[in-house]
Amino acid sequence: MNLGLSEEHNIIRQAARDFARTHLLPGVIERDELQKFPEEQVKKLGELGFMGLMVSPDYGGAGLDTVAYVLAIEEIAKIDASTAVIMSVNNSLVCSVIESHGDDLQKKEYLTSLARGEKLGGFCLSEPEAGSDATSQKTSAIDKGDYFLLNGTKNWITNAQTADVFIVIAQSDYELGHKGINAFIVERKWN
Ligand SMILES: Cc1cc2nc3c(=O)[nH]c(=O)nc-3n(C[C@H](O)[C@H](O)[C@H](O)COP(=O)(O)OP(=O)(O)OC[C@H]3O[C@@H](n4cnc5c(N)ncnc54)[C@H](O)[C@@H]3O)c2cc1C
Repeated sequence: MNLGLSEEHNIIRQAARDFARTHLLPGVIERDELQKFPEEQVKKLGELGFMGLMVSPDYGGAGLDTVAYVLAIEEIAKIDASTAVIMSVNNSLVCSVIESHGDDLQKKEYLTSLARGEKLGGFCLSEPEAGSDATSQKTSAIDKGDYFLLNGTKNWITNAQTADVFIVIAQSDYELGHKGINAFIVERKWN
């Protein structure tokens, strides 16, 4: 069994390393101090396929494996941890959830643009009183017939101020306890 990196892995790692040195290193301290979102850099990452690394090419992704994804995140994080978190949320918490659990319509509507970096995703699970114990979250989702009404407070949400699409975790059936918790796709513009 070959446990080494493949040629493709090495190419991805080098591409991420080059990107980080060229596009992230300049201004990284200043962005951090000013708490400035790296808008241009994230856009470029999207154009290069880094925002949907493991998503199937059928939905605009690069179709790579987890090792390639981790190598890329490592290289980005070495230079700019904030950008690595932005990238990892889009890849792991938004694209992968929609790809694994979304229906075909949701994939066409959201996954393709998220994987291509045309849109940015956010994942809203944590609440002031629900961190490690995510099942104690209190956000409600009330079935109103042809829509759900969501109500609650989330915090620690990466990309909260910039994302276009959010996965929001909410309780839609209190009688079922934690089994009544569901994930909803919410567009910023619905606010
Ligand atoms: C950079 C960053 C980005 C984030 N982005 C997001 C995001 O995009 N979306 C989102 O929903 N959340 C996000 N979070 C929130 C993150 O998921 C929570 O911080 C995490 O779930 C922990 O919750 P908490 O901070 O409330 O800590 P707590 O759950 O209060 O834990 C505090 C400490 O207690 C320990 N602890 C907790 N329970 C136990 C136990 N039963 N036994 C022993 N020790 C325990 C923990 O290990 C920890 O050391 C982000 C956090 C960070 C730091």
